[in-house]
Amino acid sequence: MTSRALAVDIGGTKIATAVVDADGTLRGAARRPVPVVGPSGAGPSGAEQVFGAVRDCVAESLSVAEIDAADVAGVGCGCAGPMRWPAGVVSPLNIPAWREFPLRDRLRDLVGGAPVFVHNDGIALAAGEHWAGVGRGVRNLLAVTVSTGVGGGLVLGGRLLHGGWGNAGHIGHVTVAVDGPPCPCGSRGCLEVMAAGPHTVRRAQAAGWVPPVGQPADGRTLAASAAAGDQTARRELVRSGSAVGAGLASAANLLDLDAAVVAGGFAQSGPIFWDAMRAGFDRHAGLAFARRLRILRSADPDRVALWGAAAFVLAADRYGGWPDAEPVGG
Ligand SMILES: [Zn+2]
Repeated sequence: MTSRALAVDIGGTKIATAVVDADGTLRGAARRPVPVVGPSGAGPSGAEQVFGAVRDCVAESLSVAEIDAADVAGVGCGCAGPMRWPAGVVSPLNIPAWREFPLRDRLRDLVGGAPVFVHNDGIALAAGEHWAGVGRGVRNLLAVTVSTGVGGGLVLGGRLLHGGWGNAGHIGHVTVAVDGPPCPCGSRGCLEVMAAGPHTVRRAQAAGWVPPVGQPADGRTLAASAAAGDQTARRELVRSGSAVGAGLASAANLLDLDAAVVAGGFAQSGPIFWDAMRAGFDRHAGLAFARRLRILRSADPDRVALWGAAAFVLAADRYGGWPDAEPVGG
């Protein structure tokens, strides 16, 4: 029995692959940018260009690891959503060339018909943190990523939760401000619109923050401005952190969690965000069972995403339980 998986991680801007052994060792790690395809390429050829980058990345991983495609037990893939699950038909927001793209079937063709599991990237993160990351051994765990969007996944009772449509743990659209600003999902005051990088940057710009000359108006620059003493940047980064803290408190209250792992650019940006998050959590977690939540920082989200994808294949006792058919209405 083969005990290695091919892991694939597809975000809005990058594709990463590796061969992952049963002990979590990554071999042949490879990366490609997601090809930027113009409007005229948004048809089949654009979709194929993006998949070509995935195919090249997979080929490099297999070649460097000196593994034949027929020698992997299966393929696990975390991909930006939305998607139809478990069919693995994906329409990632930031990859317009892929609309209803049959990613699972196409990956299966690459490995000669081995089983392929495609899931939301937030759920892959949760599986990866629990299988081999900082959440290892935690029985009840939430993983949250605060990046271009806010996503997440859940492990309860030591098992990954999927939910009916494959979105369990997607904390990004939990309400943290009932009368907050409108969210692209149609609601108001969602954690994503309060805390994600682009929304936080836009809020800071509306309040007068200007990035230093020659630097992009993005979350990284905003966090650097805040650290350098810019009060507007600081205030908006604190609002983002407070909102994540409130979201974690709601999750702890709902689910009686042991720990939460936080990943993404803001999580790595330093004490301003982190302290605001902890303070937001303390304000909203009143009951002893919720207050005991340990908040952990993801050590290496890129590696964790690949671990999670591999865990779908290599540790099906904890991260399996996938339905064979698509849910009705999925
Ligand atoms: Zn929303």
